[in-house]
Amino acid sequence: MASEKTDAIMIRIVEFSESSCIVTMFTRDFGKIGALVKGARRPKSPFESAIDLLSISRIVFIHKSSDSLDLLTEAKLQRRFRAATRSLPHLYAGYYIAELLDALTHTGDPHPDLFELTQETVIQLDELQDPLGLVIRFELNLLRMIGQKPSFDNCTLCGRDIDRQARVPFGQLSGGVLCGKCRVGQSRVISISWGVLEAMRLFSVCDSPLPSVDPMVLGELRGVLNNYMANMMGRRPRMQKFLSMLGRPTTIRDDALSRFRKSETRALSQHDSTKHDETDKDVLNETTFTQNS
Ligand SMILES: [Zn+2]
Repeated sequence: MASEKTDAIMIRIVEFSESSCIVTMFTRDFGKIGALVKGARRPKSPFESAIDLLSISRIVFIHKSSDSLDLLTEAKLQRRFRAATRSLPHLYAGYYIAELLDALTHTGDPHPDLFELTQETVIQLDELQDPLGLVIRFELNLLRMIGQKPSFDNCTLCGRDIDRQARVPFGQLSGGVLCGKCRVGQSRVISISWGVLEAMRLFSVCDSPLPSVDPMVLGELRGVLNNYMANMMGRRPRMQKFLSMLGRPTTIRDDALSRFRKSETRALSQHDSTKHDETDKDVLNETTFTQNS
């Protein structure tokens, strides 16, 4: 059993016993890993806030060769997700990103580029930059990095160039734009504006600053991406229903944040007692709320 060191972003935390939890982390060198953290829930745990949701930590873990969970032995906090205590839209955006990473990456499949993108996005959320733009840019670049980027320029089926026009057919199942010929007979085809296609091209570039895009176009793009991500995952992401709030003012009162946490905690603990499966993962959890409040 080898001991490994890497940087990690915490993307899911589930209580395991009175004193332990299981964390899912997205790491720089090993991709997604799941590890048992013994003693994490004890008062004065050596892990402290290093394993809060979206904390970035330098970790040491023992890699188990069999199917069993890895064991986290050290976690030194590098950066806490501070936006979680300051702004509800930024908290939603961060939790959504954690959910996407958990759902769309495979265990033990390293993507250092995606680690960098996630780290950068979490930092920009902490700086209270535009959460809607950050989420859209994250989604499109995540899709590119895992080889699922929608096609914007050529027909997904025949490869023909798509001419500029007011609205373009977009196949949710084929994964991108369609020419007039190929559209026939396809199911789940929506019509999107040329402005949305242009916006997708702009947001597909990782570099900051974020592109400036008309709010109407952003709203349409959000709808397209909601359906696209749901098709990719085979279900609606749990956090998707909160994304409509991302365009709202960023400063919120503490009591609103605390109400959200309490209601989500209640909903999730009820959910936990009845169902625990891979298709409906908990992004939020009671442990994280307690530690953050
Ligand atoms: Zn075609």
